[in-house]
Amino acid sequence: MSDESNNAGASRRRFLLVSAAGLAAAPMARIAIAQNAEKVDENSPQAKALDYHHDASKVTNPKRKKDQFCHNCSFFQGTAKDKWAPCAVFQGKQVAAGGWCSTWVAKT
Ligand code: SF4
Repeated sequence: MSDESNNAGASRRRFLLVSAAGLAAAPMARIAIAQNAEKVDENSPQAKALDYHHDASKVTNPKRKKDQFCHNCSFFQGTAKDKWAPCAVFQGKQVAAGGWCSTWVAKT
C-alpha cells in the first residue's frame, strides 16, 4: 500500500473518531445547557393552561392522582436525584421533581 493511501486511511479514521466523539458529546452538552435553564414560572400562560405547580400537593385538579409527580412523568428529563430538570413540554425550562401538570404521562 502506498504512503498516499495510508495517509488517506488515517485521515478518514481520524475524521470518523472526531465525528463519533462530537455526536456523543452533543446530548451531554444539550442536557448541561437545559439544566442551567430557568425554572418554569407558575404564573406563565402555559403553566396556567396546564395547571402546573412546583408543589404537586397544591394541585386541586381532579385529574391528578396522589402518586403523580414530574419525577415519574415520561416528559421529565432528569434523574431520580434531580430536584429540578428540563421537561419536554416546557421547552427550555426546568420543572420541579415534586411538581405536576395536566400533561402528566406515566414514565415507562
Ligand atoms: Fe411535570 Fe410531566 Fe407536566 Fe412536564 S409534562 S411539567 S414533567 S407532569
